[in-house]
Amino acid sequence: MSACAKRALTTIPTIVWAVACRILESLSRREAAARLDDLFASVGLPPDAKSLFPHQFSGGQRQRLCIARALTTRPDIIVCDEAVSALDVAIQAQILNLLVRLQAERGLAYVFISHDLGVVQHLCDAVAVMYLGRIVEQAPTAAYFSAPRHPYSWSLIAAAVPAGPARDALKSRYLVRGEPPSPIDLPAGCRFAGRCPFAVDRCRAEDPPLLPVGPGHAVACHRVGEIRPPNLDAAQAA
Ligand code: SF4
Repeated sequence: MSACAKRALTTIPTIVWAVACRILESLSRREAAARLDDLFASVGLPPDAKSLFPHQFSGGQRQRLCIARALTTRPDIIVCDEAVSALDVAIQAQILNLLVRLQAERGLAYVFISHDLGVVQHLCDAVAVMYLGRIVEQAPTAAYFSAPRHPYSWSLIAAAVPAGPARDALKSRYLVRGEPPSPIDLPAGCRFAGRCPFAVDRCRAEDPPLLPVGPGHAVACHRVGEIRPPNLDAAQAA
């Protein structure tokens, strides 16, 4: 599913074609029409939406259309790349609820790519955090948010704490500074070392492997057993 539903639809003449083009090849017109009606109903769009053009839909409706397109091939897994990032909060909630319902009804799995930790915590069963193309921490969602272990995870979660004294205190110690290095000219050692407040010489020389630290929980950090995480629960409650 595209992160930009509008862009995904703008070159297509009508919505009926936008969705049907994926299934017309394998079905008769009557079967395809029935499939379209079923798909539109399942994503919460009225049947007459098929005759409209992309510009006649709202952002939330476009995202529903992209979900319908993704469902045409009856997939087992859908990659949702920033699927709700461009939507306002109310529409985000509707689309997330739709994804949850479709998952339950159709037995789907999602690879949900997002920078919004609140959405990740709400929707996902497991989390994998990437930095510069490398997984630096992965864990079941509850374990990840109750006890994150990687300094990059700490900075991400600290950045999501509402502005105020608690966030200021976290910021001074855990928020990263500077820019990431170029992905085509990666430094030796840990890719996060240039921005990590806990980096030591070893970090700049050796790339840390992803190693288990608990049930289903793995971290790529040389100092995972030494450094202490921030008290994020207290900060979020402040
Ligand atoms: S290996 Fe070193 S630089 Fe990398 S995250 Fe751990 S402490 Fe920071």
